[in-house]
Amino acid sequence: MNADRIYTPRRPLLLEAITAAALIAAPFVLPYFDAAPNTVNRILVWGLFGIGFDILFGYTGLLSFGQSALYGTGGFVAAYLLTVAGFPYVITALVIGMVAAAVVGYVVGLIALRRTGIYFAMITIAIAEVFFFVEFNPLSEWTGGENGLPGVPTPSLDLGSLHLRFTTGWSLYPFLAFCYFVGIVVALRIVRSPAGAIFRAIRENPLRAAAVGHNIHAYKLTAFVIAAAYAGFAGGLLGVMQAFMPPDAFMLETSGQLVMQTAIGGTGTLFGPLAGAAVWLFLQDFLQGTLGLGATWKLVLGLVFVVLVCFLRQGILGGVRNFVALFSSKAESRPSDTPEPASFAAPMPARHELGNGFTGPILQAKGLTKRYGGVVANEGIDFTVNAGDLRGIIGPNGAGKSTFFKMLTCEVPPTSGRITFEGRDITGMRVTDVCQLGLTKSYQVNQLFNRLTVRENVAIAALAELRGKFRLDLMRSLLDVKGLDAQVDHTLALVGLAARRDVPVAQLAYGEKRRLEIALALASSPSLLLLDEPLAGMSPRERVETVGLLRSIAEDRTMIIIDHDMDALFELAGRITVLQEGRVLVEGTPEEIKRNERVQEAYLGGLEDLAA
Ligand code: ADP
Repeated sequence: MNADRIYTPRRPLLLEAITAAALIAAPFVLPYFDAAPNTVNRILVWGLFGIGFDILFGYTGLLSFGQSALYGTGGFVAAYLLTVAGFPYVITALVIGMVAAAVVGYVVGLIALRRTGIYFAMITIAIAEVFFFVEFNPLSEWTGGENGLPGVPTPSLDLGSLHLRFTTGWSLYPFLAFCYFVGIVVALRIVRSPAGAIFRAIRENPLRAAAVGHNIHAYKLTAFVIAAAYAGFAGGLLGVMQAFMPPDAFMLETSGQLVMQTAIGGTGTLFGPLAGAAVWLFLQDFLQGTLGLGATWKLVLGLVFVVLVCFLRQGILGGVRNFVALFSSKAESRPSDTPEPASFAAPMPARHELGNGFTGPILQAKGLTKRYGGVVANEGIDFTVNAGDLRGIIGPNGAGKSTFFKMLTCEVPPTSGRITFEGRDITGMRVTDVCQLGLTKSYQVNQLFNRLTVRENVAIAALAELRGKFRLDLMRSLLDVKGLDAQVDHTLALVGLAARRDVPVAQLAYGEKRRLEIALALASSPSLLLLDEPLAGMSPRERVETVGLLRSIAEDRTMIIIDHDMDALFELAGRITVLQEGRVLVEGTPEEIKRNERVQEAYLGGLEDLAA
């Protein structure tokens, strides 16, 4: 069960078929295990609720404790329509509840997603508490306050001569199982879509996902709304299942239970919340009912939770998935001691191919200054690069090289000064938009998507160019993105990682990771590529290979390289800019730089070998 790979499995409908078979078999098999139908139904409702939460948390990495607000919203809207308002259509009411929860989710998401990490989680807790209060106080006339809304009807279907009535227990089961099945089919499509792939990239490394050109805020909001819609529909089912909409749907404890069930079952699996709910509710039935432990059952459950989290960090299904993956990819997953030499395939064309695209100064910086409090990282830098140039930047540690690159790619805004790229003023733009225009960089410290494979990493970057910064193609398969495979294969061949394409990043050798770091920048076909110390930490042999790779990439685009390996830069670059104490010390050809006295002084006079 490997729902966490971004490429559709070889048998794309296998999971759907197994799910359908299991749901059909359940009412015939489970009674032999003394499973109460009401427990099974509750598991399905929690499972459906959790599918959306898993997309939000397991896939996108956003831990929300506010799902009870959306569960309650969907539930109470549907229940109000079906009871107080006398609306007769149960399924339509459930859908209206779902839409209401999605709309509320959109607004809540806009607020909560202004922050990340623990602050995001804290805002969602506050929001859950606000909804709970509102349900009990100002809105109690509509929600029934602490009494909830009794008398929620169950659905029935009139299909010509066939009248289906779903009441309680096993009679309601087919309806809930069908809803769960539709929920899973939709979710599997979402996580196999290009947007689903970007959700995972955000979970792994939001900074890089934005830097390769994705509007991560819009994707996070999308995941939040999807989770809200699932929560809203499940909330409505809760009322239908109990013939009563309980006020405790809104309680923070509901959110907590959902988080714990998902963690127990396995995050990033879609089926984890169902498995977690099964463990939780069967244990509850068994410990409370059969063993008569009363409230003490929670203590046992707590122990089970601690043991599972300690020994199976990715939950039950996550553990099963890792176990299966271990065996299926044992052969490929060994890090290579002898990295495959770069193949130097013909470079992929940049967006604006040289010769028929931009000519003249592709990048100009004027008076670029960056101050961090009292620290002046860059001061009044004037810098011009012409299309087709390969420029080197050198300077001692702390000279301001990395800060300069961060300003050029709009990762940090300059304190003053202006930047022009291809004739357009990009000062103050976002890093995502600048990447979309064709200017990007590779990082000094690798910024990769660690739990994804090499091929998936490159695909994430390529998708930003092929689809733009945001697209809601949730029902489209990643395999249908035109040109994706060609672009990924080409990039991998170029950096010599084609044979390692299915290996997770965490298992790569260091030199391979450095080449993948360059591949991520290359995959979006930039017309201007900035490389921050691409040779750092490499062995002499890897350096020679990578210098060859850089030369090959530069044939087709403009590049600026920062590195401490002066021999390599003098060999590669047509011109070199030397930075010192945040300013341009000197600029010239490698020969001029080697002979320049101020440069030799800057390097403590110890580099007569500069001229060697
Ligand atoms: P280099 O890449 O040449 O080693 P940097 O651009 O990393 O230099 O740093 C230049 C100066 O700016 C250093 O003194 C560094 O301490 C300072 N600096 C860089 N980033 C920050 C930051 N985020 N906050 C405060 N000071 C910073």
